Amino acid sequence: MKAIFAAVFWVMGALAARAASCDASLPAPMALRSADIVENYQPTLQICRAGGAEQVAIRRMTLKGEPALLLADPATLTTKLERASCWTCADAEESALADTRMMRAIVHSAEAPGLIHRTFLNNAGLTHGDKGGAYFTGDLCPSRNPMDRAFLATLAGKATPISLSISGLWLKHHFADYRWLLDRQAAGDFAITWTNHTYTHPYRKGVAEGANFLLTPGVDADHEILETERLLIANGQTPSLFFRFPGLVSSSPLMQAVRRHHLISLGADAWLALNERPRDGSIILVHPNGNEELGLKIYAKDAAKGALPSPLKPLDEAPP
Ligand SMILES: [Zn+2]
Repeated sequence: MKAIFAAVFWVMGALAARAASCDASLPAPMALRSADIVENYQPTLQICRAGGAEQVAIRRMTLKGEPALLLADPATLTTKLERASCWTCADAEESALADTRMMRAIVHSAEAPGLIHRTFLNNAGLTHGDKGGAYFTGDLCPSRNPMDRAFLATLAGKATPISLSISGLWLKHHFADYRWLLDRQAAGDFAITWTNHTYTHPYRKGVAEGANFLLTPGVDADHEILETERLLIANGQTPSLFFRFPGLVSSSPLMQAVRRHHLISLGADAWLALNERPRDGSIILVHPNGNEELGLKIYAKDAAKGALPSPLKPLDEAPP
């Protein structure tokens, strides 16, 4: 009996040691780190195996001089950064992943039936999730205003799952607010899913939507996607599989760009400031970046009345 226990503890110890030594994520920074410390950042599609585990590598990079991978779990949709040397990987075709929940979510979110305006798509992508709660998404678009810490603090619980759509320019100019989020997460208040909200988040007031946001002439969609991921990784966090278009405005070619990078386009069916009411399974959208107080007020009022679907669920659970 003793020997069995010893063996079990040895295996558990070995697994824990492996998990610790394979983790390639960088520690939380004390000051903004440049994206340049994430070198050779490239999209890839590989199936990687270690022990009995199987993961999908969607990016490769060099971190602190060592090859590393951004890995997605094809069943749970969670992501992690690990040292490449811990995995045995082989190039994969999308067809080899067609039956996975991950690939189904990516492909389905890139379809946009019935959403076509004359020149653009509005709110294309995943707009509603699995029932039994709701999904909190807060967009951190570039802003001159400080983040609404007081509002976000009201969400704190036992690792309350929240999704924050981060733009590169917001992170660059709001490091103290970003660091506050990491500290609250480390304290166990939140579990944050980082959604890609593009690097520059183009927007010009008064310009028609079909030529605004990511449809602004000259925008490099690949750079907008990949550079945001690099900056987030440089600053100690892990990008998720989710991507949200600025203004929820896109086009078929842009949807295909997101799909090509193996991300899931995320819309919303309860943008509170637009008076969209949340229901069971709703993807709720507010802006805690100081630019849209109305949505936060509606959220707080609904929460006080018990009028929001609960509990809040991790975004990874939203796709079918
Ligand atoms: Zn935005």
